Amino acid sequence: MQKSERLNKIPPYLFAEIDKKIAAAKAKGIDVISLGIGDPDKPTIPAVVKEMHNAIDNPKNHDYPPYEGTMDFRQASVDWLKRRFNIDIDPKNEIISNIGSKEAIAHVFLAFVDPGDYTLVPDPGYPVYKNGTIFAGGTPYSMPLLEENGFLPDFDKIPEDIAKKSKIMFLNYPNNPTGAVCDLEFFKKAVDFCKKYDILLCHDAAYCEITFEGHVAPSVFQVEGAKDVAIEFYSHSKSYNMTGWRVGFVCGNKDAIQALGTIKNNLDSGTFKAIQQAAIQAYTAPEEETKTLVEMYKERKDVLENGLKELGWEIIPNKGTIFLWEKCPKGMTSEEFATLMLEKAAVVVPAGIGYGKYGEGYFRIALTQEVDRLKEVIQRMKDAGIRYQ
Ligand SMILES: *Cc1c(COP(=O)(O)O)cnc(C)c1O
Repeated sequence: MQKSERLNKIPPYLFAEIDKKIAAAKAKGIDVISLGIGDPDKPTIPAVVKEMHNAIDNPKNHDYPPYEGTMDFRQASVDWLKRRFNIDIDPKNEIISNIGSKEAIAHVFLAFVDPGDYTLVPDPGYPVYKNGTIFAGGTPYSMPLLEENGFLPDFDKIPEDIAKKSKIMFLNYPNNPTGAVCDLEFFKKAVDFCKKYDILLCHDAAYCEITFEGHVAPSVFQVEGAKDVAIEFYSHSKSYNMTGWRVGFVCGNKDAIQALGTIKNNLDSGTFKAIQQAAIQAYTAPEEETKTLVEMYKERKDVLENGLKELGWEIIPNKGTIFLWEKCPKGMTSEEFATLMLEKAAVVVPAGIGYGKYGEGYFRIALTQEVDRLKEVIQRMKDAGIRYQ
């Protein structure tokens, strides 16, 4: 059976070896603690679950949904954007629902990228930006996210000929995997760059509600004129513990939204209307609930950061997401460190190289385990003599 060229071009799965070792350790009855999973460990907020019980009983919700999302969901999303960012999005033609952001991110490349085209993607970064480009026949160009630049790409370093051949730029702040955040000034630079080279600016706002130390994540549409070149991807997954529900939206430039919509209405038939009805409740959930969620991640982050400091780490400042991004001990590749952590401490931490070549030398920790488990991680590292130096 001959597979497609496009499938062969996807980079090999880097964690196959370590996955085997994890499975082997678990089979031996070893208590493996995984800090690998970027999936919230808490249930969906109650207001959403409660509404789902009503919504599913209503036969009006059982047929095909409108491909662009129900008007109620789009209107509620637009109202939330207005309250949250003070931005104006037209519910009629500047927003569509998605089946989770991953779906919409993967599909946007099919709407804009042809063979020979480039895309500008963050490295390290969410793998879908690169692989979505490759599926569309394009070539991803890595914008390095370097620690010395606060993990923001330096647009001046992008070669002019690449910029001219690029159709899409992806940004993602608060950033997975680095936990870095950005300000409006940075978004303004991105908008200017994309206008100059006629590039669609795609901002992935998956973690916009999970920020620390008083940081309030901006929307790219707070930059004047951003709607000329930009779209923004929103997801209920991380903000409201809804990864399994597959719902969110994309908003911004009317032509871009329509183009993505045309791809989508040929490939999928939208999100179950009952889910959209329930998802609206997330916007009206008491602020307390999001606050509690963020406080929970902050407590976990503090436990790990303080523990790592005791073990000689210099912590990388991090104001958002559910991840820490830290350096591997000197002289160790990220895969070597991940292997050491598994074999000596039975702790799973993904190697930075899995997020791109500029992720080498780092590892990611997901804050999706309870505090006592995180304390156990630090204790196991102490017992195994794993230190930064
Ligand atoms: C989790 C995540 C998403 C969204 O996931 P969905 O569940 O598909 O909405 C998007 N981008 C990044 C960077 C993520 O980490």
